Amino acid sequence: MKRVQQMARDIEGVFKFIFHLKESRQMKAAVIDKHGGLECVRIENIAEPIANENEVILDVRSAALNHLDIWVRKGRPGLKIEMPHILGSDAAGVVVEAGSKVHGISIGDEVILNPGLSCGYCENCYRGQQSQCASFGVVGMTRPGTFAEKVAVPFYNVRPKPSYLDFDQAAALPLAYQTAWRMLMSRAKLKAGETVLIHGIGGGVALAGLQLAKLAGAEVIVTSSSDDKLSRAREIGADYTINYKTVDNLVQSIKEITHGRGVDIVFDTAGAETWNIDFAIVRRGGRIVLCGTTTGAEARTNLQLLYWNQLTILGSTMGSNEDFRQMLKAVAAAKLVPVIDSINLFENIHDAMRKMEEGEQFGKIVLKISK
Ligand SMILES: [Zn+2]
Repeated sequence: MKRVQQMARDIEGVFKFIFHLKESRQMKAAVIDKHGGLECVRIENIAEPIANENEVILDVRSAALNHLDIWVRKGRPGLKIEMPHILGSDAAGVVVEAGSKVHGISIGDEVILNPGLSCGYCENCYRGQQSQCASFGVVGMTRPGTFAEKVAVPFYNVRPKPSYLDFDQAAALPLAYQTAWRMLMSRAKLKAGETVLIHGIGGGVALAGLQLAKLAGAEVIVTSSSDDKLSRAREIGADYTINYKTVDNLVQSIKEITHGRGVDIVFDTAGAETWNIDFAIVRRGGRIVLCGTTTGAEARTNLQLLYWNQLTILGSTMGSNEDFRQMLKAVAAAKLVPVIDSINLFENIHDAMRKMEEGEQFGKIVLKISK
């Protein structure tokens, strides 16, 4: 009986495929044909994706921008991307199709996407450390992305959308909030009452770090070159704010706030420009956690400070499935609403991307894809 059912499903799959080819339904998507500047990004009509047996098709209602989009668009040594390529990693939407082996998800479900892709089989996947997978990838980097009316994704990468969030708010969560969660909770093992320094408040991950650190009972110091961003950071809970452009001595100022001891955790998304400051303001036995290199990938390290002060340096990339699950649970339990800079129409994607590239944003930049 089971074999008959399977055969029926297979035949149905073949018919669906042929029907799909015949119909070749079109959708709008933001694609690049080559690496380069913003001018490489074009919104085009292309064929809708076809789900394989383990995939679902999402009707993407909202997507959100990440720095990763810029890296993918510009290209990086070693990064091989099949062109034309659809950008975008974050999405919230509705399941409109499901492959024959999909279970636990129904057509019509409102979901958010975990954009991390792992093999499920290697040593690190077995350990539950999916973002350390030997072939770790990201939707929008290693497979077509979410800046499209439809996207096909593995069914185990979608989770129910928190019901108190609308699609725009939900789309702001996945990449940034799981990255910040892993940095603070899994890597730096933040405890209530500790002091966290977050450089350059305004970016998605930095703001997620601020919100999650406050949720966990930390004292948070943030820096920025914009007084406006600092005042908005205070509104969402920052305990101390410092304008690093106008302050006489950033290190001294942080030492004063912490009564000379330094901070427990430095939360760094910037890289080279802040690296030496990190070592000067972390307390003895403290932790420096890094998830990005927007200001450069190479920096000198004072090894004497590293060993004498018994510091821990922690690298962090996105999150494991468990990080994603915990983050969603914690965010929903607190009814935390992600900080959104702006909600943009899909056709205004160039303005939205420019804003991110120039670092003008305060929170996630969201794209409204379909209604
Ligand atoms: Zn793996």
